Amino acid sequence: MTRPFVGSTAALWYARVPLAARVNPGTHDRNVIWDTLIIGAGPAGLSAALFTRMRRMSTLLLDTAVAGGQLASLYPKKPVHDYPSYTYVMGEDLGKNFVDQANHMGAEIHEREHVTMIRRDDDQNLIRVTSTKEEYEARTVIVATGGGAFEPRKINKPGEAELKGKGLFYGMPDVEASKGKRVLIIGGGDSALESALSVKDVADVTMIHMLDKWQGMDTYVEEIQASKIRTMLETETVEIRGDGKVETVVVKNKKTEATQELPMDLVSINIGFLMDTKAIRSWGLELEGNQIKVDNIMNTNIKGVLSCGDIATYPGKYKLLITACSEGAAAANTAYIYVKQPKKFTVGELYAAPKEEGDTQPKASESPA
Ligand SMILES: Cc1cc2nc3c(=O)[nH]c(=O)nc-3n(C[C@H](O)[C@H](O)[C@H](O)COP(=O)(O)OP(=O)(O)OC[C@H]3O[C@@H](n4cnc5c(N)ncnc54)[C@H](O)[C@@H]3O)c2cc1C
Repeated sequence: MTRPFVGSTAALWYARVPLAARVNPGTHDRNVIWDTLIIGAGPAGLSAALFTRMRRMSTLLLDTAVAGGQLASLYPKKPVHDYPSYTYVMGEDLGKNFVDQANHMGAEIHEREHVTMIRRDDDQNLIRVTSTKEEYEARTVIVATGGGAFEPRKINKPGEAELKGKGLFYGMPDVEASKGKRVLIIGGGDSALESALSVKDVADVTMIHMLDKWQGMDTYVEEIQASKIRTMLETETVEIRGDGKVETVVVKNKKTEATQELPMDLVSINIGFLMDTKAIRSWGLELEGNQIKVDNIMNTNIKGVLSCGDIATYPGKYKLLITACSEGAAAANTAYIYVKQPKKFTVGELYAAPKEEGDTQPKASESPA
């Protein structure tokens, strides 16, 4: 990895941060009042962390799952075609780049730590954050929880639980692992169509969908129709069978009631995700549907609490990686002005390279385990 700012003070600052560790688990120092605590280490939260660290603010990220957000958890094997500077990039690679960069900047990241509550303490002028592991204090909190804590929706059919991980999985198939295999894709939306297309050149692919038409983008549907993918509409799963691994799937045509047993090696279930956005409902934030209302610099209705990415909304909102990143940068700058109260927020400051002087990150956190 290239180290920027070589030959400058900033180069020394960078050099002290080890590159090898995946995430920086840090100090767990309970006496720290963090300049900013970011809830959710997806593209929005990690972009915010990049910018808060550029401004030498102490930064802690907490994620209920793994850092990388939807890129890492929902579509690691899907190519992303609309992230500027890449012709295309696989979800997992882009997710890893986000994590590496925040890590490289010295942000502290705790994975598998679910935030259950945030509460503003007006007397102390800080925000108290409660997770499943600890309690924290922060000058600012950036809520970047995306679609919430997500888990794939299940089909709830016999064999599903037993064969999970033994040929049955949720989301995009692994192209390598699908080579030469018979793959059944269950579902009819964009994710299912993308899953089928991603392995159409390497595997023998069949798609089944409960409804009488596909629910995804026309271009995907046209591509599927022009390919050799076998499609079965108005068809539901009855049972997944196999002895220690997927061997066959029994399906039923909903109109004729006729069943057939399809020999299969892999089953990819793509019928959506259950998004758990319950947590934020009790945090006192002004919501619009399941999203947090923000102004144009990512302030919520609570002083010191900002929001960005898929969970935040404002007129003209797009839920995209690139908007998540830009909102993360905006939230970080707002947090910076709120915490550090610079006399003047200059363009020089906006593009500042990291400096050691004035850095408030707990020092022990620079030695990840
Ligand atoms: C199948 C699919 C394909 C997509 N393809 C594209 C594409 O090609 N191009 C594009 O621009 N966009 C795409 N998107 C959308 C894009 O992934 C999102 O817009 C982006 O991930 C939003 O980033 P985020 O950081 O706001 O949220 P997320 O990526 O959802 O990250 C939020 C993080 O917060 C964590 N979290 C949630 N609740 C808590 C809690 N209470 N405590 C602690 N942590 C919590 C989650 O574990 C997660 O890691 C796609 C989405 C899907 C589902």
